[in-house]
Amino acid sequence: MRIIVCEFRQETNSFNPSLSTMESFERGGIYKGEEFFESIKDQRCAVTGMLTAIQNEGGEAIPCYSMASQSGGIVENSVVEAFLDNCLSIIRATESFDGVFVSLHGATQSTLHDDVCGYILSRMRSEIGNHRILAASLDMHANITPAFINSADILCGYHTYPHEDYYETGYRAAKLGICQIRSKNLCMAYVPIPLIVPANSYSTHTSPLSDLMAFGKAFISNCDICDFSIFIMQPWLNVSTAASSIIVIGRDAQTARAAAHEIAQQLLNARDQFQLNLYTIDEVIDLALHNQEDKPIILVDSADSTNAGAAGDSMAVVKRILERGIDLKTAFVVDDAPASAAAHKAGVGSTITVSLGGTKDRVRSEPILVSAYVKSLHDGVFIQEGPSGRGLINNIGMTAVLRINDMIDIVVCHNMAGNGDPQLYRAFGVEPLFYKLVTVKACTSFRTAYHAIGSAICMTDTPGAACSDMFAFNFDKLPKPFYPFSKLEDFRLPEAVCAREA
Ligand SMILES: [Zn+2]
Repeated sequence: MRIIVCEFRQETNSFNPSLSTMESFERGGIYKGEEFFESIKDQRCAVTGMLTAIQNEGGEAIPCYSMASQSGGIVENSVVEAFLDNCLSIIRATESFDGVFVSLHGATQSTLHDDVCGYILSRMRSEIGNHRILAASLDMHANITPAFINSADILCGYHTYPHEDYYETGYRAAKLGICQIRSKNLCMAYVPIPLIVPANSYSTHTSPLSDLMAFGKAFISNCDICDFSIFIMQPWLNVSTAASSIIVIGRDAQTARAAAHEIAQQLLNARDQFQLNLYTIDEVIDLALHNQEDKPIILVDSADSTNAGAAGDSMAVVKRILERGIDLKTAFVVDDAPASAAAHKAGVGSTITVSLGGTKDRVRSEPILVSAYVKSLHDGVFIQEGPSGRGLINNIGMTAVLRINDMIDIVVCHNMAGNGDPQLYRAFGVEPLFYKLVTVKACTSFRTAYHAIGSAICMTDTPGAACSDMFAFNFDKLPKPFYPFSKLEDFRLPEAVCAREA
């Protein structure tokens, strides 16, 4: 059994005004052939999960092509075509193989395609013919569309949020893909649900999503059901093909369809429970000022999370602290390449007057002018401590730590990544435990690590392309009706369909 393995990952935020270019993917990594497997061999990622499953089943994995980028704005379509050209030419040149297994994010938009991953899968299906198996592992926030369902045999999404099961998800997808190569008796049922909810309003550790996961897992004890995925589409995707969805894979089509419909109904019923109470910036500052504990208050600036495709260049929190003229020992991080370059030019120990913020999202982020001491300079490479993504290597480019008023330490970087991990501070000499207020620009990935560090975690109402008020955006492409813009009071879910039935 020979299986071709490839990867394309990027999560698109339609409201980030900067396009994601080939340079964004070069930064994330582009690998061909053996280089691809070499690049991930020490990681617990979806692809290594796939490789383990293939090896365990006595198969041979053929390395193909891999492109990945940090979340960001809409992808230039030439990037997608470059991926397909490389991938399909390797597939074409491979003599005999039984299937293609691909690691995708699943919520990617390009300048030409609203549904990039559906397009990739359909191009792959055309290339490999009807008899071979196409399996994909996906992010829980994927936007599963009819193009996926018409092209792929197996789709598996993460079961955890914060995401901790990349490897396990790749393993599930590959295991089921192999099962399908051998038996061809699996059916994959799909039900779309027209809803989005703020990404920081849920996690798999708390209700309602923990209950939904338990509800899904209960079906696995039925020997006719092998796998399920709950896809809650990432909410900043303004596309005509948008949907959250449920996938159930089973040996009996009728049973899989019924299970998918039941889980979808549970998600639909729970829609109003995905609620979020946000603090104002001032409320969090006040909490930090009066906090008696020996641990910092964590201000979550999720609206500016680059993990969610926002720019990471908002200075709104620091601006407010400076406006109030208070002494509050604060750790902060911002994406600002020109300011970092200016600090590197001036050198450690110098004081510079510099504009900070607003270099990428000129719509939502406002720059501020500060006088800052250059505390330290770095190459920007750091290893995540986890638990989420432990061991993952990030490169945030030339980085400087700037100090304002002897009180506010700011990690100024080129391309923010690993936002939920404390090493984004620690690796650059900023120890979160020594501050009264620590800003984290992440939606949920930070929770496990920062729960141990923080005295309180405060989801905060800040500006940014990943803000959690869905009504703050001009969603002009979503299908109708769509929650929360419609309450879906009289809405009835469609019947589940099975993949590749047409
Ligand atoms: Zn995700």
